[in-house]
Amino acid sequence: MDNESFREAGHQLIDWIADYRLSVPERPVLAQVGPGEVSKNMPPLPDQPQSMQSLLQALDTVVVPGVTQVQHPMHYGWFPSNASPASVLGDIACAGMGTLGISWESCPALTEVEEVTCDWMRELTGLSEQWQGTIHDTASSACLVGILLARERASKLCKNAGGLQALKSPLRVYTTAQAHSSVAKAVQMAGIGDSNLVMVDVDPQTHAMDVSALARCIREDTTAGMTPACVVACSGSTAVTAFDSIDEIADVCAEQNIWLHVDAAMAGSAMLLPECRHLWQGVERADSMAWNPHKWLGTILDCSLFYVRDTDHLQQVLSTNPSYLRGSTDGEVTQYRDWGIPLGRRFRALKLWFHLALDGPDALRKRLRRDLQNARWLADQVAAHPDWEMLTPLTLQTLAIRHNPGGKLSGEALDRHTLRWVGEINDSGEAFMSPSMLGGNWMVRVSVGVEATEREHLEALWTLLQRHSERG
Ligand SMILES: *Cc1c(COP(=O)(O)O)cnc(C)c1O
Repeated sequence: MDNESFREAGHQLIDWIADYRLSVPERPVLAQVGPGEVSKNMPPLPDQPQSMQSLLQALDTVVVPGVTQVQHPMHYGWFPSNASPASVLGDIACAGMGTLGISWESCPALTEVEEVTCDWMRELTGLSEQWQGTIHDTASSACLVGILLARERASKLCKNAGGLQALKSPLRVYTTAQAHSSVAKAVQMAGIGDSNLVMVDVDPQTHAMDVSALARCIREDTTAGMTPACVVACSGSTAVTAFDSIDEIADVCAEQNIWLHVDAAMAGSAMLLPECRHLWQGVERADSMAWNPHKWLGTILDCSLFYVRDTDHLQQVLSTNPSYLRGSTDGEVTQYRDWGIPLGRRFRALKLWFHLALDGPDALRKRLRRDLQNARWLADQVAAHPDWEMLTPLTLQTLAIRHNPGGKLSGEALDRHTLRWVGEINDSGEAFMSPSMLGGNWMVRVSVGVEATEREHLEALWTLLQRHSERG
């Protein structure tokens, strides 16, 4: 494709995207396709160049029906996966420039814009200058890096010798059953193993880690000759947005030099609001932490901020220095390849920069506050209705709710009822919510915070909830 054809096709694509975005509220939220339907509708492998027009037509007929509309104002599932148009432009700039991030020299701007935007985000979320940041693809990768750093600290850099296989005493990692599945996966992938992941008890009301239980587990493990290596604390857990008390956990970690990683993937966005920062009080005492601007804040996926304090340790663990990557500026510059697992990196900082520059922090804060108020409004309706309950206190914008007419249902009958009404709403395409288990029973999570969701959409949801739960 030559540059002039690119220009023309590019304009067509932007027009297509803008029209598509306009059409989202008219579409079903949940993709109404069965398994194999999209692949069956794919055109054959082209043997001749196609026109941009025919490709865009295929997007309309083949792809769009197979898209679950997470930008839809009635999407309340999983988490808000906002993709603000301003950040989309930054992502297009990233792709369009075709940069290569494998060393500072391969694109000095990629490294330095990332450093500056990470500092901006640090400032916007009220963190101190002790933290240095980078942008990973996801919080899952960030958590794996956090656990690798913990592993190497506790094992005195076992990677430089026989690795975990040469250790005499097993390393232990502590979290709670509320932690995201990526924590267990990272523990597995770091070679620590499931049986060394300790699920610490939680408070039955708030689902936050019981810190005295944590201290007890650590004591018992130490007595048994094991090595406590890491605590992964949740700042906003997946199912019910529980906040572990980071300050108290940090006290326990400090006593034994245990690495503390804070997973704030979802709730980190809230920390743009000073009034929410008490929820992660003590975060300054953690060793590493991560959060996803690609969720509620709305910088298009993939954009996960990872911050550490001990960058010397980070580099001891992750740096490589092969001859073909050496340059004359080594030692003076940041080599982001030494901050994570991949060598080649995208220019992800551009989408964050575009997002901040074109939307502006004030508008972002205003939208986050709108969502908190909308979630509060729905929580008030639910709590005031005799047949509905809020299963956990509302901490941010995700509700955990259940309908139980007259309080008469329990056990399997209650589960059947819950799954029926939420299944009906989801299948209808009118709205989408995620059913989730809590304490052995099904409940429904309502995650508020799509950019397009206004109060009227919450009102429509409340009507739907009542209509479908009372039927059947
Ligand atoms: C979404 C989420 C994750 C995983 O995020 P990815 O970026 O998709 O890996 C981890 N932890 C929490 C608390 C989350 O909400």
